[in-house]
Amino acid sequence: MPSLILSQESFDEKLPSSLSRKSSASRELKTERLRHLSLEAGNDEDRMLAQAINKQINRSRRILVLTGAGISCNAGIPDFRSSSGLYELVKRQHPEASIKSGQEMFDISLFREEAKIPVFATFMEKLYSSARLAQPTRTHRFIAHLKNRGKLLRCYTQNIDGLEESLGLEVSSERDCNTTMANQWKNVDVVQLHGDLNKLSCTQCFQTYNWSRVLSRSLRSGQLPSCPRCQDSNHQRSRLGKRNTGSVGLLRPNIVLYGENHPSCEFISDGLSIDMARGRPDLLFIMGTSLKVDGVKKLVRNVSKQVHERGGLVILINKTSIGDCNWHGIIDYQILSDCDAWVDHLQGSIPDLFKTQQQIEKAKQLKRENSEVRKRQREERKLTPPPTPRKNQRQSPSVKSAVSRTSPQNIKNIDSSIQTTILEANDLRARLEFDETNARACTLPDLKSIPSLHREDSLSNATDTTIENELSDVDDGAVNLSTHISIENAALVVS
Ligand SMILES: [Zn+2]
Repeated sequence: MPSLILSQESFDEKLPSSLSRKSSASRELKTERLRHLSLEAGNDEDRMLAQAINKQINRSRRILVLTGAGISCNAGIPDFRSSSGLYELVKRQHPEASIKSGQEMFDISLFREEAKIPVFATFMEKLYSSARLAQPTRTHRFIAHLKNRGKLLRCYTQNIDGLEESLGLEVSSERDCNTTMANQWKNVDVVQLHGDLNKLSCTQCFQTYNWSRVLSRSLRSGQLPSCPRCQDSNHQRSRLGKRNTGSVGLLRPNIVLYGENHPSCEFISDGLSIDMARGRPDLLFIMGTSLKVDGVKKLVRNVSKQVHERGGLVILINKTSIGDCNWHGIIDYQILSDCDAWVDHLQGSIPDLFKTQQQIEKAKQLKRENSEVRKRQREERKLTPPPTPRKNQRQSPSVKSAVSRTSPQNIKNIDSSIQTTILEANDLRARLEFDETNARACTLPDLKSIPSLHREDSLSNATDTTIENELSDVDDGAVNLSTHISIENAALVVS
């Protein structure tokens, strides 16, 4: 993982106060001169700066992205501009053709030499076949994620592979006359500045076609197929007896070659104007491009002005440097990195940015529910009286005494107990008198030998003990007095 990744805490501790203030952070980060940053190497200042930039990225809401071939290298798209790879393969198939580099395959001048057209046809069919096997990269998915989060204003791409489409993004390279410009533009996510390899178009009437097995076979063999529409038109004219122009277009990939007038120039220009006027972009990512094409350079200058007026940043992520002098005040930072590696770095630095919209919504819902629960608990606490002390709760002697004196229930219990004792004593007395009378009538036994008397003495003692226990809590006042009277009465009765 690149060394720029720091924890949020360590970042906040080290970040200069000027950068940690949210309101002024973006203005502080804007540069007058293009600044270079690297993910692999860097001092503490660079790392803190990178974290500040990442935080600013996270705050951005209307992100405009410009991409180039660099984002598709990891997807398996061959490097068709270099003198190796796909170009070498095609050259072996057409050794007679005097083509020096893959770059020439994208120049309109090759149509001026008939010998080069079969090379072009074979090359494009191989490129299309390779693109069909390619998979979207981490960077493509990041762009799709920005759309999912509602942060993607638009992606302008110089790539012709259309890999974004497989991620559910709406890709367009030309005007659809069946709807209004505003309606079409509203639904476009990715604008293909240089056309679409996944379509074929006629060199004459500009009608577009999907690739088919028959068309693929024709191009693979080095032949550009004739346009069915142009052929039909000529047949119609013949049937009507009109002059046959004899002009039938050829089908070629629907891409814009160097030196060729852009067929969708007006469409893209109008769309860009809409983005500048209504889109309010607050961040521009330039990813995987060295900005060599004039039209793209102009686009960057226009967008940069708009972004800076809104306090945003312009950040370029590319493996190779684009040079400084032409971009001071236009691009703020150039991060020398593979685009996918940079996306990984960004995710490590700002995980929140990579949460899906569904995760964000769920987190918001949980927060709302927790807030409501806490609010309900606060309201319930206000309505509930303070709890009474529990029975087994320890009390200080003074509190215990006060409770004993003032508790009517306690007094009632003691009185009831005394009344029971008095009744039991009366009963005992009656039985003693009965026994004494019987004894006198018979013999005079030892009173202590009579078991019942022992029991009654025990009962009397037990009763006294019980009374004392019952009264232990009653230590003074009227209640105390009445209970003593009762005890004395009970004792007298017993004796
Ligand atoms: Zn045609």
